[in-house]
Amino acid sequence: MPRLRIAAGLIAGLFAISAHAASSAPDVSRHQAQIDKIVAEISPKRIENYVRKLVSFETRHTMSDTTSDTTGIGAARRWIRAELERCGAGTGLSVDFDSHIAPVSARISRPTEIVNVVATLPGAQEASKDRVYVVSGHYDSRNTDVMDATGKAPGANDDASGTAAVMEMACVMARYKFDATLVFMAVAAEEQGLLGAGHWAKTAREKNLNVAGMFTNDIIGSSRADDGRIDNKQVRLFAQSIPATKEMSEAVRQLVATGGENDSPSRQLARHVKEQGERYVKGFKVNVIQRHDRYLRGGDHMPFLEQGYAALRFTEPNEDFSHQHQNLRTENGKVYGDLTDFVDYDYTAKVARVNAAALASLALAPAAPQGVKVRTDKLVNDSTLVWQANPEPDVAGYRIVWRETTAAGWQGSKFVGNVTEATVNLSKDNYFFGVQAVDKDGNVSPATYPAPLR
Ligand SMILES: [Zn+2]
Repeated sequence: MPRLRIAAGLIAGLFAISAHAASSAPDVSRHQAQIDKIVAEISPKRIENYVRKLVSFETRHTMSDTTSDTTGIGAARRWIRAELERCGAGTGLSVDFDSHIAPVSARISRPTEIVNVVATLPGAQEASKDRVYVVSGHYDSRNTDVMDATGKAPGANDDASGTAAVMEMACVMARYKFDATLVFMAVAAEEQGLLGAGHWAKTAREKNLNVAGMFTNDIIGSSRADDGRIDNKQVRLFAQSIPATKEMSEAVRQLVATGGENDSPSRQLARHVKEQGERYVKGFKVNVIQRHDRYLRGGDHMPFLEQGYAALRFTEPNEDFSHQHQNLRTENGKVYGDLTDFVDYDYTAKVARVNAAALASLALAPAAPQGVKVRTDKLVNDSTLVWQANPEPDVAGYRIVWRETTAAGWQGSKFVGNVTEATVNLSKDNYFFGVQAVDKDGNVSPATYPAPLR
């Protein structure tokens, strides 16, 4: 280009660098063929079959019968395990029970064996296989009395829907390869105090497992609100800011001190899930709710949050509380109870597709960069970020993303090449920044929020 030759040396150099960076920047907005295939394979019909089978056990109460082959939680978990083993045959999927005895507590009247069904698909890349993403639904159920272990508790929506979505994801995704490891869990004793998820999360922390993200799917089965409105075009994704603890950890103190309350690891994960979920599931909105859960409610993401992991909750947009935690009955012509009649399987499949797209994109991408810092040692109006190089062999480079301080999602980005320091001509005082790692195929990691470097 003749114009380049007449430009000043410095300008030409800058132009050359930026032109080079632009030409080598992987396309991070393109669809990955593997994710499109996974999303297309998620089947509403199979999800319906799973939900109906789970409901057929009559109750899946955590303290219900474990000896029958047709009713109670024991039969339910043996069926879930056998089904995952069957569909995972010939793949890398391995299925295990994760069991512990819960002592007597507020919602456990006698020592009870709590059993999670855990299906693991090991990562295929040496540098990524120790990075784990967990997706769960709870297969236990309850009726009006949380201690009633024998009365009917179909739990079609709460939470056969989430369990079925997780089973369907495991069966479809087991036929594909990912860099990082995926863990598909059907957990027990959610209704008795989040005991199954709590045990797995605590053990993960004791083993120092790198759980880079966790989603629970709980009540994802109905698109109909209590007033009859249908909304099958969105799902809520609950994402915690900073934990409500008496004492602040140093990491939380630093977030608050720099205005980063909306840049916690769970919020970064939620941004990634929204972007990827909406890219691959057309016409469907991931509505990020900036709180950890609904009022008076909790879920299996909470024990993961307590162990310091990034964790999110998927739930339908408008719940109908007459179909949750209710004894089966009809009063004044109104049907109460969590029955299959009220589950929308096409809707549940859409939520499963959002989960699958997000999980696949996370497990194909490099890890979020470590050691990200923003230089604050000089009073200047641009922003210099530094970070550690990622370990994965297929990393193409890094992308700096930014947004105004009142914005929820990223508004701008710049691919800066395979470097560990870069400057953006925007003030760190006026924008929030993050750094993402990008591989050669355009798979992009969640963003890491920078700590101040003095
Ligand atoms: Zn539930």
